[in-house]
Amino acid sequence: MKLPMQIFIALGLAIKRNIHIFLGIILGIIFGVIMNSYLPQAALENNSIGMIIFNILDLIGQIFLRLIQMVVIPLVFSAIIIGISSIGDNKQLGKFGGKMVFYYAIITIVAVVLGAGLATGLKPGEGVQNYISEQSQIEIQKSFNHIQPSDSGDLSIVNIIDDNPLKSLAQGDTEAVITSIIPDNPVKALAQGNMIAIILFVSIFAVALAKVGEINRPVVAFFESLFAATMKVIDWIMYLAAPGIFALVATSVSQFGLSMFGALSKYFIAIFLGFAIQLFILYPLMLKIFSKVPILTFYSAIAEAMMVAFGTASSSATLPLTIACCEKRGISHKICSFVLPLGATLNMDASALFQVVSVIFLTQAYDLHLSIFQILLIMLLAIIASSTSAGIPSAGLITIVLILQGLGLEASQLVQGFAFLFAIERIIDMFRTMNNVTSDAVVAALIADNENEINYDLLSNPDSTEIV
Ligand code: ASP
Repeated sequence: MKLPMQIFIALGLAIKRNIHIFLGIILGIIFGVIMNSYLPQAALENNSIGMIIFNILDLIGQIFLRLIQMVVIPLVFSAIIIGISSIGDNKQLGKFGGKMVFYYAIITIVAVVLGAGLATGLKPGEGVQNYISEQSQIEIQKSFNHIQPSDSGDLSIVNIIDDNPLKSLAQGDTEAVITSIIPDNPVKALAQGNMIAIILFVSIFAVALAKVGEINRPVVAFFESLFAATMKVIDWIMYLAAPGIFALVATSVSQFGLSMFGALSKYFIAIFLGFAIQLFILYPLMLKIFSKVPILTFYSAIAEAMMVAFGTASSSATLPLTIACCEKRGISHKICSFVLPLGATLNMDASALFQVVSVIFLTQAYDLHLSIFQILLIMLLAIIASSTSAGIPSAGLITIVLILQGLGLEASQLVQGFAFLFAIERIIDMFRTMNNVTSDAVVAALIADNENEINYDLLSNPDSTEIV
């Protein structure tokens, strides 16, 4: 049977088991489109029925999102400690790390090459300059309001760009790069949710635990209990997945300028064709070439994580689910706890593809001719920008600013282009996060297969609830 066919069947099987979440997504899309078409004006007016419905949905979505985000830090902490301390010897750790870098590198390089090929081949930006300036005027106010949920203060453009090591690199400020990666105070890194710094600290601590021998038992046992309890909490939270994802998808779709699909068809074709090639050709091909993991079964095993990634647009928030899906279906804890948290933080191949296509799209729109050298530079910067982006909504879009800066666009074009991309951002983010999470899981499966760390009986058992 042909690969794409197998994958469709796999998704079909997954739908059977995860029908409630899948229905949440479908109904969310339908409801979002209805709100978008019939309530756009009303939704903007205070106390209108549209506004009330939107706020209720937003509340439901945020409750679900925050509940799963709540368990990310304890989960990452305990998973890495148990994982690395159980790997123990340096040689095995080095082998896992080497393979992880190898697979992530292939996936990311293919992503940027694919992005550059699609954008230069389809030329999605040609002739859309006027459209961009019109739409960006309309969207500018709205977009910038969305990006700054001021009271929580955790998603402002300024914070995300300031926290990104690429900004410091671009400014030649190596000290700032180091301080954003090596925490001087791990508790502060935890409180700020700085994943790269947390992972570095926990990994060093876990290697040390492995080295001190038997005396590490109480600490490891503590984290084993913490991990088990966290997994239980995730099981409970997943009862809310269907309404939560429904609400998240409905609110996202309701804010999307659906008319833009027509006007920018080539841009959407380039982006979604790229995502489809990743999902239906690249990842299955890698599983086929480098392992004996059955593609069909594997996609159905991680379907729940893929759908949650789609709904939340956050790899970090989905991490608990990604770990749960992979472990329940036979990938060893050693591999999951080592590879998946790093993947959710560093591996953003779909974001890299999106960044390359979008940057080239904007340069085409503003008639900026790019040399081969500049295209290569965009690809390189997208690799850095994507892998240093946090696994949170819109991080991949916001770090685009860092790539756009050196290309010779005028300041007004930069603002227009960015505001414009923001208007169509959420839907694209949902798809790219789904791919980012899928590729994290694919790499975990590849390493697990290569290192005999996968239980194939559990993988083929859709009812498995065992954590290995
Ligand atoms: N939302 C994406 C993720 O969490 C990152 C991005 O914005 O590209 O994987």
